[in-house]
Amino acid sequence: MFRGSRVYHLPEEETLDRDALAQLQRRRLAAMLDEVLAANSFYRRKLGGLKFDPASDPLDRLPFTTKAELQRDQADRPPFGSNLTYPLDRYCRYHQTSASTGRPLRWLDTAESWRWWTECWGIVFRGAGVAAGDRLVFPFSFGPFIGFWAAFEGAVALGNMALPAGGMSTTARLRYIIDNQATVVCCTPTYALHLAQVAAEEGIDLAGSRVRALIVAGEPGGSVPATRRRIESAWSARVFDHAGMTEMGATGFECLHAPGGIHLIESQFIAEVIDPATGRASAEGAGELVLTNLGRRGSPLIRYRTGDLVRLVRGRCGCGRHFVRAEGGVLGRVDDMLIVRGNNVFPSALEAIIRRFSSVEEFRITVTGANAMADLLIEVESAGPSEGSRLDREIATAIRNELHFRPSVQVLPPGSLPRFEMKARRLVRV
Ligand SMILES: [Zn+2]
Repeated sequence: MFRGSRVYHLPEEETLDRDALAQLQRRRLAAMLDEVLAANSFYRRKLGGLKFDPASDPLDRLPFTTKAELQRDQADRPPFGSNLTYPLDRYCRYHQTSASTGRPLRWLDTAESWRWWTECWGIVFRGAGVAAGDRLVFPFSFGPFIGFWAAFEGAVALGNMALPAGGMSTTARLRYIIDNQATVVCCTPTYALHLAQVAAEEGIDLAGSRVRALIVAGEPGGSVPATRRRIESAWSARVFDHAGMTEMGATGFECLHAPGGIHLIESQFIAEVIDPATGRASAEGAGELVLTNLGRRGSPLIRYRTGDLVRLVRGRCGCGRHFVRAEGGVLGRVDDMLIVRGNNVFPSALEAIIRRFSSVEEFRITVTGANAMADLLIEVESAGPSEGSRLDREIATAIRNELHFRPSVQVLPPGSLPRFEMKARRLVRV
């Protein structure tokens, strides 16, 4: 049910200062460990022999949890593995990861853990200013990927109208959004752009629709300035970036006051940043995000290496929250960092440049060779048929000026590259 104010979902935790927040985290950590270590065989094996005082011991006395470990556990103890705190019949939600690499990870939630998800989504929605009367639409195929399932039910729990838009063509979805006077759209940045492109082709007036906000997730685009601007101008609506993952939960949200970054919900997660190479705490606050969830006790994760690269900034935000902010959102995946002629390059940095060229509708980055010898081919789809030869040179030059290497750029006719509804796969390694 609707609780709290219009600005905060759970004001009693969203308005805590740093000290009070740290105390709350330690209390929740203690309660979570008590329950998990009593019955969860995965974590009993990992942590059983360890002396750890959750009130005062530094967190790094606990080992990391990795995705590879979870995959091994599920392979050894099929089908669901052993990271389960309760008997199987308590679990009522099944999801699996999108399996972009390797076999999918299965993930179960109890009714209580699922409620915890919807509470986190309440924080995300209130952060974006969702209020009574907002109608939220989910143009997303409701398959086993957790995607926007929890968001959908989070909207229902807030008392807002939630419109499912699975199993429809893009054109049908556009009509559905307009006819039902939806005000908030939840999708990936790629799909927000695709909807806008199809609307333009079909003469559908998106800017004149009731949509005032798009909550986007699944890719870095929501905080990439050129991508944001493009979505915002096509829809005449504000973009709010969001971060979450199947294994962890809805972890972060963008508030009304600080565009282009993500607050981590520190009342429900403990965030650390490490140097991905050494595993040690990163002094500058930039590196791989490690998260511990405090409320998903049915299938918890303790010090989980998310593989997401972030730069965390502390301090009270204009929205009144002290939750740390990932400046620029999720900057990329640890695995996606490329070394091109001696330069460290993230695909999101390339996207930030490519999206500035307004005629580019879609792109793909193909990496050939390994490590220091890697080479890049950037294929872009251009809406303007005649400007190909100029466009490739302009993009290559912009990348050379900012990232210090010159990639090959090839311009393709419209419609040549694949489109994505959920996570786009624009990086290809051959
Ligand atoms: Zn804020």
